[in-house]
Amino acid sequence: MNLAQRDQKIIWHPYTQMKNAPEPIAIVRGEGVYLFDEEGNKYIDAVSSWWVNIHGHAHPHIANKVSKQLHTLEHVIFAGFTHEPAVQLAERLLPLLPGKQEKIFYTDNGSTAVEVALKMCLQYWNNKGNTQKQKILAFKDAYHGDTFGAMSVSGRSIFTNPFNDLLFDVVFIDLPTAENISELQEKILTLKNKLACFIFEPLVLGAGGMQMYEAKYLDQLLSTCLENEVLTIADEVMTGFGRTGTYFACEQLDNHPDIFCLSKGLTGGTMPLGVTTCNQKIFDAFWSDDKLKTLYHGHSFTANPIACVASLASLDILLSEETLPNIKRIENQHRLFFEEIKNHPKLKSIRQTGTIIALEWQTGSDTSYLNGLRDKLYRYFINKGIVLRPLGNIIYILPPYVIKNDDLTYIYESIKQALADI
Ligand SMILES: *Cc1c(COP(=O)(O)O)cnc(C)c1O
Repeated sequence: MNLAQRDQKIIWHPYTQMKNAPEPIAIVRGEGVYLFDEEGNKYIDAVSSWWVNIHGHAHPHIANKVSKQLHTLEHVIFAGFTHEPAVQLAERLLPLLPGKQEKIFYTDNGSTAVEVALKMCLQYWNNKGNTQKQKILAFKDAYHGDTFGAMSVSGRSIFTNPFNDLLFDVVFIDLPTAENISELQEKILTLKNKLACFIFEPLVLGAGGMQMYEAKYLDQLLSTCLENEVLTIADEVMTGFGRTGTYFACEQLDNHPDIFCLSKGLTGGTMPLGVTTCNQKIFDAFWSDDKLKTLYHGHSFTANPIACVASLASLDILLSEETLPNIKRIENQHRLFFEEIKNHPKLKSIRQTGTIIALEWQTGSDTSYLNGLRDKLYRYFINKGIVLRPLGNIIYILPPYVIKNDDLTYIYESIKQALADI
Protein backbone atom coordinates (compact mmCIF):
# COMPACT_ATOMS: atom_id res chain seq x y z
CA MET A 1 0.00 0.00 0.00
CA ASN A 2 1.22 3.48 -0.76
CA LEU A 3 0.73 6.42 1.60
CA ALA A 4 -2.52 7.55 -0.02
CA GLN A 5 -4.05 4.08 0.36
CA ARG A 6 -2.98 3.75 4.00
CA ASP A 7 -4.51 7.21 4.57
CA GLN A 8 -7.81 6.23 3.01
CA LYS A 9 -8.23 3.33 5.42
CA ILE A 10 -8.17 5.45 8.57
CA ILE A 11 -8.18 9.21 8.00
CA TRP A 12 -11.14 11.61 7.88
CA HIS A 13 -10.14 14.76 5.99
CA PRO A 14 -11.43 18.33 6.49
CA TYR A 15 -14.16 19.69 4.20
CA THR A 16 -14.20 16.36 2.37
CA GLN A 17 -17.04 13.98 1.51
CA MET A 18 -15.04 10.83 2.18
CA LYS A 19 -17.30 8.58 0.08
CA ASN A 20 -16.37 9.99 -3.30
CA ALA A 21 -13.24 11.97 -2.57
CA PRO A 22 -10.39 11.16 -4.94
CA GLU A 23 -7.26 9.64 -3.38
CA PRO A 24 -5.38 12.32 -1.46
CA ILE A 25 -2.08 13.41 -2.95
CA ALA A 26 0.72 12.30 -0.65
CA ILE A 27 3.19 15.14 -0.25
CA VAL A 28 6.67 14.18 0.84
CA ARG A 29 8.49 17.50 0.60
CA GLY A 30 8.02 21.22 0.15
CA GLU A 31 10.42 23.86 -1.08
CA GLY A 32 9.53 27.49 -1.81
CA VAL A 33 6.26 27.58 -3.74
CA TYR A 34 6.57 23.90 -4.70
CA LEU A 35 5.15 20.72 -3.20
CA PHE A 36 6.47 17.29 -4.25
CA ASP A 37 4.39 14.12 -4.07
CA GLU A 38 5.55 10.56 -3.48
CA GLU A 39 5.78 9.93 -7.22
CA GLY A 40 8.03 12.93 -7.70
CA ASN A 41 5.37 15.18 -9.27
CA LYS A 42 5.78 18.88 -8.57
CA TYR A 43 2.90 21.28 -7.78
CA ILE A 44 2.82 25.05 -7.47
CA ASP A 45 1.07 25.86 -4.20
CA ALA A 46 -1.05 28.69 -5.64
CA VAL A 47 -3.34 28.85 -2.57
CA SER A 48 -0.55 28.97 0.01
CA SER A 49 -1.79 25.72 1.58
CA TRP A 50 -5.15 27.14 2.66
CA TRP A 51 -3.82 30.70 2.89
CA VAL A 52 -1.25 30.11 5.62
CA ASN A 53 2.06 29.89 3.81
CA ILE A 54 3.39 33.36 3.04
CA HIS A 55 7.14 32.81 2.55
CA GLY A 56 7.23 29.41 0.83
CA HIS A 57 7.61 25.90 2.25
CA ALA A 58 10.42 24.72 4.52
CA HIS A 59 11.89 28.19 4.74
CA PRO A 60 15.43 27.77 6.12
CA HIS A 61 15.28 30.82 8.42
CA ILE A 62 12.08 29.60 10.11
CA ALA A 63 13.37 26.01 10.19
CA ASN A 64 16.59 27.06 11.94
CA LYS A 65 14.87 29.14 14.59
CA VAL A 66 12.25 26.48 15.28
CA SER A 67 14.84 23.74 15.48
CA LYS A 68 16.90 25.74 17.99
CA GLN A 69 13.85 26.47 20.14
CA LEU A 70 12.92 22.77 20.18
CA HIS A 71 16.19 22.04 21.96
CA THR A 72 15.68 24.90 24.45
CA LEU A 73 12.04 24.91 25.55
CA GLU A 74 9.26 23.14 23.66
CA HIS A 75 6.34 24.22 25.87
CA VAL A 76 5.37 25.51 29.28
CA ILE A 77 2.03 26.24 30.91
CA PHE A 78 1.21 29.90 30.18
CA ALA A 79 -0.83 30.66 33.30
CA GLY A 80 1.61 31.85 35.94
CA PHE A 81 4.58 31.43 33.57
CA THR A 82 6.01 33.27 30.61
CA HIS A 83 8.91 32.97 28.15
CA GLU A 84 11.03 35.08 25.83
CA PRO A 85 9.37 34.11 22.50
CA ALA A 86 5.87 35.07 23.72
CA VAL A 87 7.03 38.41 25.13
CA GLN A 88 9.18 39.24 22.14
CA LEU A 89 6.41 38.40 19.68
CA ALA A 90 4.00 40.68 21.56
CA GLU A 91 6.62 43.45 21.64
CA ARG A 92 7.22 43.21 17.91
CA LEU A 93 3.69 42.51 16.67
CA LEU A 94 1.60 45.06 18.58
CA PRO A 95 3.38 48.16 17.18
CA LEU A 96 2.86 46.86 13.63
CA LEU A 97 -0.92 46.88 14.01
CA PRO A 98 -2.78 50.05 13.03
CA GLY A 99 -4.29 52.05 15.90
CA LYS A 100 -3.07 51.51 19.41
CA GLN A 101 -3.13 47.81 20.15
CA GLU A 102 -1.81 47.33 23.68
CA LYS A 103 -2.36 43.71 24.76
CA ILE A 104 -2.08 40.31 23.19
CA PHE A 105 -3.95 37.11 24.08
CA TYR A 106 -2.59 33.87 22.67
CA THR A 107 -4.65 30.97 21.31
CA ASP A 108 -3.91 28.28 18.76
CA ASN A 109 -5.87 28.93 15.58
CA GLY A 110 -8.07 31.44 13.78
CA SER A 111 -11.38 30.13 15.10
CA THR A 112 -10.28 30.33 18.72
CA ALA A 113 -8.79 33.80 18.12
CA VAL A 114 -12.32 34.78 17.02
CA GLU A 115 -13.93 33.07 20.04
CA VAL A 116 -11.69 35.08 22.35
CA ALA A 117 -12.48 38.34 20.53
CA LEU A 118 -16.23 37.70 20.87
CA LYS A 119 -15.87 36.82 24.55
CA MET A 120 -13.79 39.96 25.15
CA CYS A 121 -16.54 42.12 23.65
CA LEU A 122 -19.50 40.39 25.31
CA GLN A 123 -17.81 40.31 28.70
CA TYR A 124 -16.65 43.92 28.24
CA TRP A 125 -20.29 45.06 28.49
CA ASN A 126 -21.06 42.54 31.18
CA ASN A 127 -18.14 43.80 33.28
CA LYS A 128 -19.41 47.33 32.81
CA GLY A 129 -22.82 46.30 34.13
CA ASN A 130 -24.57 46.74 30.79
CA THR A 131 -26.75 43.69 30.20
CA GLN A 132 -28.48 45.11 27.14
CA LYS A 133 -25.61 44.93 24.68
CA GLN A 134 -25.45 41.25 23.76
CA LYS A 135 -25.97 41.18 19.99
CA ILE A 136 -23.25 40.90 17.41
CA LEU A 137 -23.23 42.55 14.00
CA ALA A 138 -21.58 40.67 11.11
CA PHE A 139 -21.58 40.39 7.33
CA LYS A 140 -24.07 38.03 5.73
CA ASP A 141 -21.44 36.02 3.83
CA ALA A 142 -18.70 36.25 6.45
CA TYR A 143 -16.52 33.33 7.44
CA HIS A 144 -14.93 33.46 10.90
CA GLY A 145 -14.18 29.80 11.59
CA ASP A 146 -15.70 26.44 12.46
CA THR A 147 -16.14 26.43 16.24
CA PHE A 148 -19.64 27.28 17.49
CA GLY A 149 -19.14 30.95 18.30
CA ALA A 150 -17.18 31.53 15.11
CA MET A 151 -19.83 29.64 13.14
CA SER A 152 -22.57 31.74 14.72
CA VAL A 153 -21.05 35.00 13.47
CA SER A 154 -20.42 33.45 10.02
CA GLY A 155 -23.00 33.49 7.27
CA ARG A 156 -25.55 30.71 7.30
CA SER A 157 -24.53 28.36 4.51
CA ILE A 158 -24.18 24.71 3.60
CA PHE A 159 -21.28 24.63 6.09
CA THR A 160 -23.55 25.56 9.01
CA ASN A 161 -26.77 23.92 7.84
CA PRO A 162 -27.01 21.04 10.35
CA PHE A 163 -26.31 23.42 13.24
CA ASN A 164 -28.31 26.52 12.33
CA ASP A 165 -30.89 26.06 15.10
CA LEU A 166 -28.15 25.95 17.72
CA LEU A 167 -26.18 29.00 16.56
CA PHE A 168 -26.79 32.22 18.44
CA ASP A 169 -28.72 35.01 16.86
CA VAL A 170 -26.64 37.56 14.94
CA VAL A 171 -27.58 40.77 13.10
CA PHE A 172 -26.35 40.25 9.55
CA ILE A 173 -25.78 43.05 7.06
CA ASP A 174 -24.76 43.24 3.40
CA LEU A 175 -21.32 44.42 2.34
CA PRO A 176 -21.27 48.22 2.29
CA THR A 177 -21.52 50.02 -1.06
CA ALA A 178 -22.15 53.58 -2.18
CA GLU A 179 -25.83 52.70 -2.49
CA ASN A 180 -26.52 51.04 0.85
CA ILE A 181 -24.04 52.69 3.23
CA SER A 182 -26.52 55.17 4.79
CA GLU A 183 -29.05 52.40 5.27
CA LEU A 184 -26.44 50.27 7.06
CA GLN A 185 -25.37 53.18 9.25
CA GLU A 186 -29.02 53.80 10.07
CA LYS A 187 -29.37 50.18 11.15
CA ILE A 188 -26.42 50.50 13.54
CA LEU A 189 -27.98 53.64 15.02
CA THR A 190 -31.30 51.90 15.56
CA LEU A 191 -29.70 48.88 17.24
CA LYS A 192 -26.88 50.60 19.10
CA ASN A 193 -28.25 49.82 22.57
CA LYS A 194 -28.30 46.12 21.74
CA LEU A 195 -25.07 45.79 19.78
CA ALA A 196 -21.99 44.60 21.70
CA CYS A 197 -19.71 44.56 18.68
CA PHE A 198 -19.24 44.40 14.93
CA ILE A 199 -16.97 41.65 13.56
CA PHE A 200 -15.70 41.88 9.98
CA GLU A 201 -13.13 40.57 7.53
CA PRO A 202 -11.58 43.79 6.19
CA LEU A 203 -11.63 44.29 2.37
CA VAL A 204 -11.97 40.60 1.43
CA LEU A 205 -14.44 37.94 2.59
CA GLY A 206 -12.30 34.85 2.12
CA ALA A 207 -14.26 31.62 2.39
CA GLY A 208 -17.41 33.54 1.46
CA GLY A 209 -16.10 33.51 -2.11
CA MET A 210 -13.29 36.11 -2.12
CA GLN A 211 -15.88 38.89 -2.15
CA MET A 212 -14.21 42.28 -2.09
CA TYR A 213 -15.40 45.68 -0.97
CA GLU A 214 -14.04 49.18 -0.65
CA ALA A 215 -12.06 50.42 2.34
CA LYS A 216 -13.92 53.73 2.18
CA TYR A 217 -17.29 52.21 3.11
CA LEU A 218 -15.86 49.94 5.79
CA ASP A 219 -14.30 53.06 7.26
CA GLN A 220 -17.72 54.70 7.39
CA LEU A 221 -19.20 51.67 9.17
CA LEU A 222 -16.35 51.74 11.69
CA SER A 223 -16.85 55.42 12.28
CA THR A 224 -20.55 54.85 13.03
CA CYS A 225 -19.65 52.02 15.43
CA LEU A 226 -17.06 54.19 17.16
CA GLU A 227 -19.52 57.05 17.64
CA ASN A 228 -22.20 54.74 18.99
CA GLU A 229 -20.31 52.56 21.45
CA VAL A 230 -20.30 49.44 19.30
CA LEU A 231 -16.96 47.64 19.71
CA THR A 232 -15.20 46.50 16.54
CA ILE A 233 -13.28 43.31 15.73
CA ALA A 234 -11.11 43.04 12.63
CA ASP A 235 -10.77 39.39 11.68
CA GLU A 236 -7.46 39.60 9.79
CA VAL A 237 -6.87 35.86 10.03
CA MET A 238 -6.67 35.68 6.23
CA THR A 239 -5.89 39.32 5.29
CA GLY A 240 -3.05 39.81 7.79
CA PHE A 241 0.69 39.81 7.05
CA GLY A 242 0.73 41.43 3.62
CA ARG A 243 -2.04 39.60 1.82
CA THR A 244 -3.97 42.72 0.72
CA GLY A 245 -0.91 44.75 -0.29
CA THR A 246 -0.31 46.36 3.11
CA TYR A 247 0.96 44.49 6.19
CA PHE A 248 -2.59 44.59 7.56
CA ALA A 249 -5.76 45.37 5.60
CA CYS A 250 -6.87 47.83 8.31
CA GLU A 251 -3.89 50.06 7.46
CA GLN A 252 -6.04 51.13 4.52
CA LEU A 253 -8.61 52.64 6.90
CA ASP A 254 -8.66 55.89 8.90
CA ASN A 255 -10.66 54.37 11.77
CA HIS A 256 -9.19 51.56 13.80
CA PRO A 257 -10.82 48.50 15.33
CA ASP A 258 -10.66 47.73 19.06
CA ILE A 259 -9.59 44.13 18.47
CA PHE A 260 -7.61 42.15 15.89
CA CYS A 261 -7.71 38.40 15.26
CA LEU A 262 -4.64 36.94 13.58
CA SER A 263 -3.55 33.42 12.65
CA LYS A 264 -2.86 31.70 9.28
CA GLY A 265 0.21 33.67 8.06
CA LEU A 266 1.31 34.45 11.63
CA THR A 267 3.82 31.60 11.84
CA GLY A 268 4.56 31.83 8.12
CA GLY A 269 2.29 28.80 7.80
CA THR A 270 4.68 26.64 9.79
CA MET A 271 2.43 25.69 12.69
CA PRO A 272 -0.78 26.64 14.44
CA LEU A 273 -0.96 29.80 16.51
CA GLY A 274 -3.61 32.46 16.95
CA VAL A 275 -3.62 35.82 18.63
CA THR A 276 -6.32 38.22 19.70
CA THR A 277 -5.02 41.72 20.36
CA CYS A 278 -6.90 44.59 21.96
CA ASN A 279 -6.59 48.24 22.87
CA GLN A 280 -6.33 49.59 26.41
CA LYS A 281 -10.04 50.30 26.63
CA ILE A 282 -10.96 46.61 26.29
CA PHE A 283 -8.25 45.46 28.69
CA ASP A 284 -9.24 48.03 31.33
CA ALA A 285 -12.77 46.62 31.54
CA PHE A 286 -11.29 43.35 32.86
CA TRP A 287 -8.79 44.98 35.25
CA SER A 288 -10.39 44.58 38.66
CA ASP A 289 -10.19 43.24 42.20
CA ASP A 290 -13.38 41.40 41.37
CA LYS A 291 -12.49 37.87 40.25
CA LEU A 292 -15.73 37.66 38.26
CA LYS A 293 -14.32 40.22 35.82
CA THR A 294 -11.52 37.84 34.76
CA LEU A 295 -11.35 36.55 31.18
CA TYR A 296 -11.65 32.85 31.97
CA HIS A 297 -10.28 31.47 28.75
CA GLY A 298 -7.18 29.49 27.80
CA HIS A 299 -5.92 26.55 25.80
CA SER A 300 -3.42 23.85 26.69
CA PHE A 301 -1.01 25.13 24.08
CA THR A 302 -1.54 28.85 24.68
CA ALA A 303 1.54 30.77 23.48
CA ASN A 304 3.48 27.66 22.52
CA PRO A 305 7.15 28.78 22.40
CA ILE A 306 7.92 26.95 19.16
CA ALA A 307 4.97 28.58 17.42
CA CYS A 308 6.01 31.98 18.81
CA VAL A 309 9.54 31.50 17.51
CA ALA A 310 8.20 30.48 14.09
CA SER A 311 6.18 33.72 14.13
CA LEU A 312 9.21 35.80 15.06
CA ALA A 313 11.18 34.22 12.22
CA SER A 314 8.28 34.82 9.84
CA LEU A 315 8.16 38.48 10.94
CA ASP A 316 11.90 38.80 10.18
CA ILE A 317 11.19 37.72 6.62
CA LEU A 318 8.00 39.78 6.28
CA LEU A 319 9.82 42.94 7.37
CA SER A 320 12.95 42.23 5.32
CA GLU A 321 13.71 44.36 2.27
CA GLU A 322 12.52 41.83 -0.30
CA THR A 323 9.03 41.06 0.89
CA LEU A 324 7.01 44.25 0.27
CA PRO A 325 8.48 44.63 -3.24
CA ASN A 326 7.53 40.98 -3.87
CA ILE A 327 3.98 41.69 -2.74
CA LYS A 328 3.82 44.75 -5.03
CA ARG A 329 5.23 42.70 -7.91
CA ILE A 330 2.54 40.02 -7.50
CA GLU A 331 -0.09 42.78 -7.29
CA ASN A 332 1.16 44.21 -10.60
CA GLN A 333 1.29 40.85 -12.33
CA HIS A 334 -2.28 40.12 -11.19
CA ARG A 335 -3.36 43.55 -12.45
CA LEU A 336 -1.96 42.85 -15.93
CA PHE A 337 -3.70 39.47 -16.03
CA PHE A 338 -6.89 41.14 -14.82
CA GLU A 339 -6.76 43.66 -17.68
CA GLU A 340 -6.06 40.89 -20.16
CA ILE A 341 -9.05 38.69 -19.36
CA LYS A 342 -11.58 40.97 -17.72
CA ASN A 343 -13.95 40.82 -20.69
CA HIS A 344 -13.78 37.07 -21.19
CA PRO A 345 -17.29 35.81 -22.01
CA LYS A 346 -16.95 32.77 -19.73
CA LEU A 347 -16.27 34.94 -16.69
CA LYS A 348 -19.07 36.40 -14.66
CA SER A 349 -16.69 38.66 -12.78
CA ILE A 350 -13.05 39.13 -11.87
CA ARG A 351 -11.70 41.01 -8.87
CA GLN A 352 -8.40 41.73 -7.17
CA THR A 353 -7.14 43.01 -3.85
CA GLY A 354 -3.39 42.93 -3.23
CA THR A 355 -1.98 39.47 -3.89
CA ILE A 356 -5.43 37.89 -4.26
CA ILE A 357 -7.14 37.61 -7.63
CA ALA A 358 -10.49 35.85 -7.97
CA LEU A 359 -12.33 34.80 -11.13
CA GLU A 360 -15.95 33.83 -11.10
CA TRP A 361 -16.92 31.35 -13.79
CA GLN A 362 -20.25 31.64 -15.60
CA THR A 363 -22.25 28.57 -14.59
CA GLY A 364 -25.71 29.05 -15.97
CA SER A 365 -28.03 28.52 -13.02
CA ASP A 366 -26.24 26.74 -10.18
CA THR A 367 -23.71 29.06 -8.49
CA SER A 368 -23.36 27.23 -5.20
CA TYR A 369 -20.26 25.87 -3.51
CA LEU A 370 -21.47 22.43 -4.56
CA ASN A 371 -21.43 23.29 -8.25
CA GLY A 372 -20.00 20.40 -10.28
CA LEU A 373 -17.66 22.77 -12.06
CA ARG A 374 -15.61 23.01 -8.89
CA ASP A 375 -14.33 19.42 -9.01
CA LYS A 376 -13.67 19.70 -12.73
CA LEU A 377 -11.59 22.84 -12.31
CA TYR A 378 -9.74 21.45 -9.30
CA ARG A 379 -8.67 18.33 -11.18
CA TYR A 380 -7.84 20.30 -14.32
CA PHE A 381 -5.27 22.41 -12.47
CA ILE A 382 -3.89 19.52 -10.41
CA ASN A 383 -3.17 17.75 -13.71
CA LYS A 384 -1.24 20.84 -14.77
CA GLY A 385 0.76 20.78 -11.53
CA ILE A 386 -1.03 23.70 -9.89
CA VAL A 387 -2.89 23.63 -6.58
CA LEU A 388 -5.92 25.87 -7.06
CA ARG A 389 -8.85 25.03 -4.84
CA PRO A 390 -11.97 26.72 -6.22
CA LEU A 391 -14.72 27.94 -3.91
CA GLY A 392 -17.62 26.63 -5.98
CA ASN A 393 -17.34 28.39 -9.34
CA ILE A 394 -14.77 30.88 -8.03
CA ILE A 395 -11.12 30.31 -8.80
CA TYR A 396 -8.61 32.39 -6.91
CA ILE A 397 -4.85 32.73 -6.77
CA LEU A 398 -3.44 33.50 -3.32
CA PRO A 399 0.24 32.62 -3.60
CA PRO A 400 3.23 32.68 -1.24
CA TYR A 401 5.05 36.00 -1.76
CA VAL A 402 8.18 34.25 -3.05
CA ILE A 403 6.42 33.03 -6.19
CA LYS A 404 8.38 33.99 -9.31
CA ASN A 405 6.88 35.74 -12.32
CA ASP A 406 7.34 32.73 -14.60
CA ASP A 407 5.30 30.55 -12.21
CA LEU A 408 2.62 33.25 -12.09
CA THR A 409 2.61 33.38 -15.88
CA TYR A 410 2.27 29.60 -16.04
CA ILE A 411 -0.78 29.81 -13.72
CA TYR A 412 -2.33 32.64 -15.78
CA GLU A 413 -1.75 30.72 -19.04
CA SER A 414 -3.28 27.59 -17.50
CA ILE A 415 -6.35 29.55 -16.44
CA LYS A 416 -6.69 30.95 -19.97
CA GLN A 417 -6.37 27.41 -21.30
CA ALA A 418 -9.03 26.23 -18.83
CA LEU A 419 -11.34 29.02 -20.01
CA ALA A 420 -10.93 27.64 -23.54
CA ASP A 421 -11.22 23.96 -22.55
CA ILE A 422 -13.95 23.85 -19.90
C1 LIG B 1 -9.50 30.61 8.15
C2 LIG B 1 -10.21 31.71 8.81
C3 LIG B 1 -10.62 31.60 10.14
C4 LIG B 1 -10.47 30.34 10.94
O1 LIG B 1 -9.14 30.01 11.17
P1 LIG B 1 -8.74 28.50 11.51
O2 LIG B 1 -7.31 28.57 11.89
O3 LIG B 1 -8.99 27.71 10.28
O4 LIG B 1 -9.61 28.07 12.65
C5 LIG B 1 -11.22 32.70 10.72
N1 LIG B 1 -11.40 33.84 10.04
C6 LIG B 1 -11.00 33.99 8.76
C7 LIG B 1 -11.20 35.28 8.07
C8 LIG B 1 -10.40 32.92 8.09
O5 LIG B 1 -10.05 33.04 6.81
